[in-house]
Amino acid sequence: MTRMLIIGPPGSGKGTQAERISARLGVVPISTGDIFRANVKGETPLGIEAKKYMDNGDFVPDSVTNKMVRDRLSESDVENGFLLDGYPRTVAQVEYLDQILSEGDEKLDVVLQLTADDEELVSRLLGRAKETGRSDDNEAVIRHRLDLYHEQTEAVVAQYADRGILTQVDGIGAIDEVTDRVLQAIEAAQAV
Ligand code: AMP
Repeated sequence: MTRMLIIGPPGSGKGTQAERISARLGVVPISTGDIFRANVKGETPLGIEAKKYMDNGDFVPDSVTNKMVRDRLSESDVENGFLLDGYPRTVAQVEYLDQILSEGDEKLDVVLQLTADDEELVSRLLGRAKETGRSDDNEAVIRHRLDLYHEQTEAVVAQYADRGILTQVDGIGAIDEVTDRVLQAIEAAQAV
């Protein structure tokens, strides 16, 4: 089981868990949010374009995001598996990812959803805003990002549930506890 996706609302800790799981399982973590942030920092053309959307908590357009993911997945380090974090977030992105993977005769093995209550997420993200000064962590933007998650990304989760590859994990608790739950869930999914 090597091709995975972690999905969850903003603030559910998916970035932290993605790093831990990929280190443990020896697969490459691919976070679209991190790639965008690195480009924003480097002031590349991609970063300048993405920043317009990110600062408002909007999705970067599919035309930009899909191409970026296609390029990343064509690199040789993903041959032994990958863990996508933050992509796909829309049904159109699911279709695009299906297409990329099918070209290499591949498909996703498991989709892991981290769950958490909205109010818990808002308070976590407001805490993170103080620590990191991330420009998309103020309350109005946080609530908008949560709305987008409910409006668009839950439909993505539903598609993977229909395919029978979805595993849900409670994202509330100490980081280590959640990591244990996630690793157990992946193991259980592998045993199916
Ligand atoms: P994240 O770190 O995953 O919360 O992503 C931060 C921001 O990057 C999001 O709020 C979006 O503006 C942008 N972003 C990341 N992944 C995607 C995606 N799959 N589609 C569109 N925008 C994305």
